[in-house]
Amino acid sequence: MLILDILILMYADDIVLLPQNAKNLQEQINIVKQFFEDNSLNVNLGKTKIVIFGKGRAPKKYTFYWGEEKLDIVNEYTYLGIKFHRNGQMNSAKASMFQKAHVALHNLFTVFYKAKINNIDTLNKLFLSLVNSILMYASPIWGVNFIDDFEKFQTSFLRRLLCVSNFVPSYVLRLETGIQSIKVNFFKALVNFLYKNIFIKEETSLNLVCYSQIKTLNGTDYNYNWHKQVEKLFKMYQMENEFLLLSKEYLKQERRNLIAKFAQNSINNDVKQMMSNPNLLQLAIFKTHVTKSKQYTLNIPWHVTKLIQNVRLGLPRIFVNAKTTNLNGIWEIWETNEEKTKYCELCNENKVESLFHIMFECYQYISLTLKYLQNFYRETPTKDNYLCILFKDENMNVESLNNMYHFWSEAILNREFYYEHFHMNPI
Ligand SMILES: [Zn+2]
Repeated sequence: MLILDILILMYADDIVLLPQNAKNLQEQINIVKQFFEDNSLNVNLGKTKIVIFGKGRAPKKYTFYWGEEKLDIVNEYTYLGIKFHRNGQMNSAKASMFQKAHVALHNLFTVFYKAKINNIDTLNKLFLSLVNSILMYASPIWGVNFIDDFEKFQTSFLRRLLCVSNFVPSYVLRLETGIQSIKVNFFKALVNFLYKNIFIKEETSLNLVCYSQIKTLNGTDYNYNWHKQVEKLFKMYQMENEFLLLSKEYLKQERRNLIAKFAQNSINNDVKQMMSNPNLLQLAIFKTHVTKSKQYTLNIPWHVTKLIQNVRLGLPRIFVNAKTTNLNGIWEIWETNEEKTKYCELCNENKVESLFHIMFECYQYISLTLKYLQNFYRETPTKDNYLCILFKDENMNVESLNNMYHFWSEAILNREFYYEHFHMNPI
């Protein structure tokens, strides 16, 4: 009599067989087929596929049958919504998850435009529940190796939300909005997965047995080893000791602290980067706390919030009147086009057309400065401190920020008028 262990994964009406070798697979298929027939069950052979996992090309020498019917051998199979490729890497799963999330993000912005929401917390909650939830689906399984891609996706959301240039680093956007990196959301999902799906199980459970086996596998290539990927992630956030302590009891007691430590380390990294960026010297001075900046706590229209965020970053790039305007000073920063002037052409004084020049230096805008920025003007701002003066917490209120919007709205209109009527090459 033939005695055979069949390793089988079952979920609803899905079945996965996990054989040791080719001969073993055909034997298992035969047994399952017999079981189906004995119990008057039908199988959908159209959806029944075989994946032979391994490096390199799939071997062509095998054929498998369900009775008389030959079964397809494929490189990739979608199981419970996740694409598994025969090479054991999760790039296909990642690509399809991100594609779904991009579609959801597009739809989310359609909602934003219609709903005129001006609260950053509401906007972020919608992002988390409608877009991030898609991205996080089964992410502890497929996403450990792609944690930077999660963050890039979130950054593209924040850049679009705030209409800031791609030059604005992601850590600045997080520190300004007080929104934590979605790496933290991922880490939380991972820790909960380790606890609820692995460590809390009985020692003989398949999950824990697989985990113990993968732990003992040798080989340095972490692309093929999920356990090594998890270890690397813990190390990246200075948590190698915590990784060594992982166990049922430890996670039961400490998993909230683990997530909190990861979140704190991630904020610390952001602050460190901001402080060491020479382009953000002023921001590093007036940005005195890591929670969201004051413009996000005031009840001002979202288009004002966006303008304020742009100005705070000091880049000569302004978003008003529903469009982006690059001031000439941008060419000094981008250093790409020799033929473009970096100077203000309205005053012809060979001054770089920077935010400071237009707000506090150029005589062509002086009437607007006096009308809208008078309070700040009294403190005689200089190039090196004007952002610090403008964005001191006590200088930021609904009136001053709305005035700053009016200033820029009219200044840009004046500038456009000049270029349309007096300049040969309008921008
Ligand atoms: Zn000027």
